[in-house]
Amino acid sequence: MAETRWIPETLFDELGFRMTYAVEKVLYEQQTEHQHLVLFEHKHFGKVLMLDGATQVTTRDEFIYHEMMTHVPIMAHGAAREVLIIGGGDCGIAEEVLKHASVERLTQVEIDESVIEFSKEHFPEFTGPVFADKRFESVIADGMKYVAETDRRFDVIIVDSTDPQGPGAVLFTREFYAACKRCMAEGGVMVTQNGVPFLQPGELISSVGHFRKLFADAGCYVASIPTYVGGHMAMGWAAADRRLRDTPVETIAERYRAAGSFATRYWTPQVHKAAFALPRFIAEAVEKATG
Ligand code: SAM
Repeated sequence: MAETRWIPETLFDELGFRMTYAVEKVLYEQQTEHQHLVLFEHKHFGKVLMLDGATQVTTRDEFIYHEMMTHVPIMAHGAAREVLIIGGGDCGIAEEVLKHASVERLTQVEIDESVIEFSKEHFPEFTGPVFADKRFESVIADGMKYVAETDRRFDVIIVDSTDPQGPGAVLFTREFYAACKRCMAEGGVMVTQNGVPFLQPGELISSVGHFRKLFADAGCYVASIPTYVGGHMAMGWAAADRRLRDTPVETIAERYRAAGSFATRYWTPQVHKAAFALPRFIAEAVEKATG
């Protein structure tokens, strides 16, 4: 009987903490130009993609993060036509964005082409509808370079990045956020993957601090994603106007109806609103962030 291979998440090794997966079958493993990529089958979480020892997406719980990173900013904005995704190579967020008929163009800027190519093979449920949609534009580039140089303007910017290590580190800098502000359209909003505050408090405090220096409204909202271990996941919020965050739940519900009440498994107008009610330890961390 072959011995079970266990693959650890090494993201929190410094904390002396590891989550480990019992692998049913390794489907793909490669050291790309930018990072180490492994995809395997797990009996409970389905397909699991890890980059540089950090869980990126699992087919079992992806809907939580993808819906909350997409529908919260788009429904809060209310008239988003031009949307930009930085990172997001698995296309899980792109698939959610394209559920919004109001979106006229979606541009995704991913640094590692092999993540997209391998996702076409292993995550067809995301990439299939996305690459079949003529509103979608895929750009292979460093997100920092793209936002620093583009002459386009975006209503919603979604930063679906890896953690602040390797190619993802630059996506947590003041320079990057300032360049995102530069290409944000009037009344726009940006949301960011910002880690798990209980285990990665510094990441959130640093980003919100930068947001405070650059945007009229800065903060975060939360959701719990089983394989982003450590409790609440924080999604950074940076907007040109405080009113977006304060959009009444009735208005969000009306916008959802107008958008055809497309299928969701986590996001609802009520969950949207509640996500900004932060537990005290996270609220205090955000308050402390001065940048
Ligand atoms: N949801 C996941 C998470 O929370 O950890 C992230 C998923 S997505 C796969 C992350 C993507 O960001 C990866 O495909 C990676 O290649 C991409 N990425 C990292 N640094 C980047 C950069 N500087 N510019 C553009 N894409 C980048």
